[in-house]
Amino acid sequence: MTAKKVDPDRVYRVAIKILKGLFYYNEGELIPEDKPITFDIISPDQKLPEIFMAALGVKPILGDFKACFAYRYGQFPEAHNMWLWTFWLWESLTLTFAFHDLNCECEECKPSCPPIS
Ligand SMILES: [Zn+2]
Repeated sequence: MTAKKVDPDRVYRVAIKILKGLFYYNEGELIPEDKPITFDIISPDQKLPEIFMAALGVKPILGDFKACFAYRYGQFPEAHNMWLWTFWLWESLTLTFAFHDLNCECEECKPSCPPIS
């Protein structure tokens, strides 16, 4: 197997677009442009973080061509309505995403600009 280096910023920009598209496709809502989203790339030799294992283990694996791209997601009321998503690329590389509920008004999720009054 050959190892390839990935540019995390570049992967993030593409992955976020896919996430937002899939979120709209599955949930019918738009993720706000400025929504803070925690993103990570898990290489094949790393374990998926425990929270993703525990929370998503019972969720169905989605995707039409799972050998190339599959995903799993869920929202978890016991964790402040956190959304957790994972993408599997070529059954090896895993991308993880975590973000608060779209209506969350915590300090982290507040828009960075104050509203015009
Ligand atoms: Zn929040």
